[in-house]
Amino acid sequence: MIKKEILGRWTAEKSEELYGIKNWGAGYYDISSSGEVTINPFGKKSDVKISLMDIISGIRQRGFEMPVLLRFENLLDAQISHLNESFKKAMKEWNYQGEYRGVYPIKVNQQQQVIEEVVKYGERYHHGLEVGSKAELIGALSIMRDKEACLICNGYKDEEFIDLGLYAVKMGFKCFFVVEIPGELELIIQRSEILKVKPLIGMRIKLSSKAGGHWTESGGDRSIFGLNTAQLIDAVDVLKKNNMLDCLKLLHYHLGSQIPNIRDIRSAVVEGSRIYAGLVKEGAQMGYLDLGGGLAVDYDGSNTNFSNSRNYTIDEYCVDVIEIVQATMNEENIPHPTIITESGRATVAYYSVLVFNVLDVAKFETSKIPEIPPDDSHDLIKSLYYILNTMNLKNIQECYNDALYYRDEVRELFKHGKLTLRERSFAETVFWNIISVIAQEKKRMKQSPPDLSDIESAIADIYYCNFSVFQSVPDHWAINQLFPVMPVHRLTEMPTRNAVIADITCDCDGKIDSFIDLHDVKHVLPLHELGEEDYYLGIFLVGAYQETLGDLHNLFGDTNVASIRIYPNGEYDFVREIEGDTVADVLSYVEFNPKQMLLDFREMAEQAIREGRITANERREIMKAYDIGLRGYTYFEK
Ligand SMILES: *Cc1c(COP(=O)(O)O)cnc(C)c1O
Repeated sequence: MIKKEILGRWTAEKSEELYGIKNWGAGYYDISSSGEVTINPFGKKSDVKISLMDIISGIRQRGFEMPVLLRFENLLDAQISHLNESFKKAMKEWNYQGEYRGVYPIKVNQQQQVIEEVVKYGERYHHGLEVGSKAELIGALSIMRDKEACLICNGYKDEEFIDLGLYAVKMGFKCFFVVEIPGELELIIQRSEILKVKPLIGMRIKLSSKAGGHWTESGGDRSIFGLNTAQLIDAVDVLKKNNMLDCLKLLHYHLGSQIPNIRDIRSAVVEGSRIYAGLVKEGAQMGYLDLGGGLAVDYDGSNTNFSNSRNYTIDEYCVDVIEIVQATMNEENIPHPTIITESGRATVAYYSVLVFNVLDVAKFETSKIPEIPPDDSHDLIKSLYYILNTMNLKNIQECYNDALYYRDEVRELFKHGKLTLRERSFAETVFWNIISVIAQEKKRMKQSPPDLSDIESAIADIYYCNFSVFQSVPDHWAINQLFPVMPVHRLTEMPTRNAVIADITCDCDGKIDSFIDLHDVKHVLPLHELGEEDYYLGIFLVGAYQETLGDLHNLFGDTNVASIRIYPNGEYDFVREIEGDTVADVLSYVEFNPKQMLLDFREMAEQAIREGRITANERREIMKAYDIGLRGYTYFEK
């Protein structure tokens, strides 16, 4: 009766708070009054809200299986506008005389479709592209058309790379070579003389300013790319000697990705602006100041300098950049440069959501045990009972230590044949009863002992889900990055279970057991009891880096992808559906030959007929199953 009353009082607002969607959703994600996650592509300006469950059922009706990566084109459009408009506003406010030209770094999400959409939506702002390799340059040249936009070439460059870039300049592109290491400059000078093209040259510098966050080593003195000031001056002299100082147009630095603290960004801009001014004084023409990437995404919604967050908004970022560059240039009496940023993460992170179904749950449940231990129980079992019966708030840490000790003793004795399997099993049941009482008690403590910090995850349910961490959220596995994870429906029901999420790779690392929380990281995620209907979860903000870093662990391949375009009247289209890898696809990535595999398998089946193990009819069925498997999706199919 009481339980029902509590359930009745759970609301969408409570889910909003529990999962923090308003904090990390940047106005793009919300919960409807009927308890479903919605996407609001036009933000607060419009009341268009599309339920993710509608989209999922549309996908299912079209015969697509989970997991599916949803890409919302509108969000790319919105983020590119946001960045460009924020710079515009800041420039106006500070009476900045230069312009802003953003570029999108292809490595952040190299999917052809993503680059094409960035170029399409970026056109009105002359938003360009950044490439870090020959392959990316070749890709970019097939898509880019806007001659006003910048094409920035970073990365180590060989002759072929340089020639292609020079041809691009010849065809009218603003294609800059950024010199990353001293040796590159000679080759650029040499090739441009041979091809008779005047190159646009930039210099990448190592700043002494350091930033916090995961990728600090990309900037700073110890970064592997970029010139120190001595090398920079050498490069200037080389250009002077070759009569090419007028080709030096751009200064570039990259602090690293996901810089959570605005102070680090500011001090880098201060240093970069001074170096820029120094180059102008050396006689270089300049004109472009490229601040690289680093604009962070607030994954956990905490708005702090925690590594998964940021303590600033895009607006503040733009104002700070413009204010500092303007002040430095005015002081030095130098025209305001065109500002370039290479913001990748902030441009694409919001745009994709991975949705998948829960396949099964391993519930944490402690079996009932008798009030007192049976008379013939082993002493260790009696000791465990003693703990259970004498536990109170004061001795909880001691009880925890003792319980672990006795449990380990039980296992030792079992290994030496001194305890039966049944005795060990009973002892462990008592042990888990103790742990779950401790977890209950811990909730009542003001400050709990550090040893008990993740006891909740030890007694959490395991929700087995139809996706692969390695393929779809590799940064969670590799660098422990947090992403928002939550159910996409049933959000007017109280979630009554605490869970960790396991993927279907059967790898012990194929799990998610740290989740966003406003003040800390939490180790369990509140979820709903599985019912008759499919239960769907979403992992949000996975548009940046995850797709391109994903791998084929256990041969789970690319997921299905659906691209969705939403119109101002609230209607939407599935503009593109990309089928994920089939089993044959992933096997051929590792050099299997599916055609040959069919032949080989057929031969083995024929052999089985000859040996009398199967009939010819059975062979047909077996071959059919093999063939369907080969052509099917690598994930769990219905
Ligand atoms: C990776 C990278 C970027 C993108 O950084 P974000 O933090 O994703 O914006 C930009 N420039 C260079 C040189 C990079 O290596």
